[in-house]
Amino acid sequence: MKLFNSLTRTVEKFVPKDKNEVKVYTCGPTVYNFAHIGNLRTYLMEDILIKTLKYNGYKVKRVMNITDVGHLSNDSDDGEDKMLKGAKRENKSVEEIALFYTDAFFKDLKDLNVLMPDVIEPATHCIDSFIKVISGLIEKDFAYLSGGNVYFDTSKVDKYHIFYNFKQEDLGVAVRESVTDDENKKNKNDFALWFTNSKFEHQALVWDSPWGVGYPGWHIECSCIAMKHLGDYVDIHCGGIDNAFPHHTNEIAQSEAYLGHEWCHTWMHVMHLQTQSGKMSKSSGEFLTLTVFKQKGYTPMQYRYFCLESHYRKPLIFSYQIIDNSVNSYKKLLQRISNLKFEGEIQKESFKAYKTKFKDAINNDLKTSLALKVLFDALKDGSISDKTKLAIVKDFDSVLSLDLLSNEEENVKKSYGTTSLSDEEILKQIGERQTAKKNKDYAQADSIRNALSSEGIILIDTPNGTIFTRN
Ligand SMILES: [Zn+2]
Repeated sequence: MKLFNSLTRTVEKFVPKDKNEVKVYTCGPTVYNFAHIGNLRTYLMEDILIKTLKYNGYKVKRVMNITDVGHLSNDSDDGEDKMLKGAKRENKSVEEIALFYTDAFFKDLKDLNVLMPDVIEPATHCIDSFIKVISGLIEKDFAYLSGGNVYFDTSKVDKYHIFYNFKQEDLGVAVRESVTDDENKKNKNDFALWFTNSKFEHQALVWDSPWGVGYPGWHIECSCIAMKHLGDYVDIHCGGIDNAFPHHTNEIAQSEAYLGHEWCHTWMHVMHLQTQSGKMSKSSGEFLTLTVFKQKGYTPMQYRYFCLESHYRKPLIFSYQIIDNSVNSYKKLLQRISNLKFEGEIQKESFKAYKTKFKDAINNDLKTSLALKVLFDALKDGSISDKTKLAIVKDFDSVLSLDLLSNEEENVKKSYGTTSLSDEEILKQIGERQTAKKNKDYAQADSIRNALSSEGIILIDTPNGTIFTRN
């Protein structure tokens, strides 16, 4: 697999540190409002990354944080806590806001067929880890107390990593133009690890610490949550491009200062979704949620398809006209698939050839649009049987996750039979196999599958459940 590494700005061959498990960390949402579909593009592309790793046979452990404290209105240390702002806006408690928007976020991910991370950790559950790492940083002289707060001293690190085109000397002004300088800081780029001396008095959630009652800064959350669940190394760290600076830059500085070695090898950033007038963001007011999108008559799968038609490293322009073109193309794809009959044999050589092409596309820094083209080419290929095409669709959809076979369910049920087993009997056995799988009794699940197979009944596991075909 090859991936573009934002740290080196080159496409590199991906080699995990431990070949038995790829460790992936993805920045999660700040749960003070709905995610807009631009945020969701990032999570959707991370899903493609995870599924591509699995398609290549890797075992993956993915960890995601939920920011429910400490993320201030400005990405550096200024302004009000976003959670508090959300709570005030809706006249609810910070805890209520966190629960409500966490729930809404995961509903969106489920709608978009995004696989749940293996670990999801709210920042407020990890205060002990934050205190431990901050204490370690003070001990090693990478952090200092000033005006009641604890700050990271960026002048102590050899290299303050800069992603993309930010110039080191511009950082203080270019990225933080609206920030009033915090006079507690020794250097412009220093950032708060722990606040006790807040500019806003009504911070809802505070904890005891060696430096007084207070709350953590945003950046320390991700470093600590990653270390807690993935250990001292991360293979791939992802997020939206808006997280590259200062968030990821600060994550690297504090993690490597604490650990004393390189922390994460590969950094990946997903570019913005733009409206024709510019970046879609909560503050700009142009803010389209998945719910609004659905109310306008579109489906989450259509949005997923729209995102897969472009490359994650290019900004994606959103307009209803572009979306409509994409929807038409997706409908055509589904139509082609639903016209396929369960006929002919699976031609193994052709299946393998298309699989190789698909893998080449997706393994080349997740070129999803090229992968879709391989799928269309296979469907148009007059030299291969329908059954081969269906096998290809099923295989590719394990990465694309576009519900490509959901229309097939009816067709499969209508299939012709040579066995004495009735549909009801088969469905009953599928149910028993499902129960066995749920109980992790894979031997029993396999034996049911094999018994049916010897009767000429082939089971196909789709995202919407198991369906069957009669040979
Ligand atoms: Zn993060």
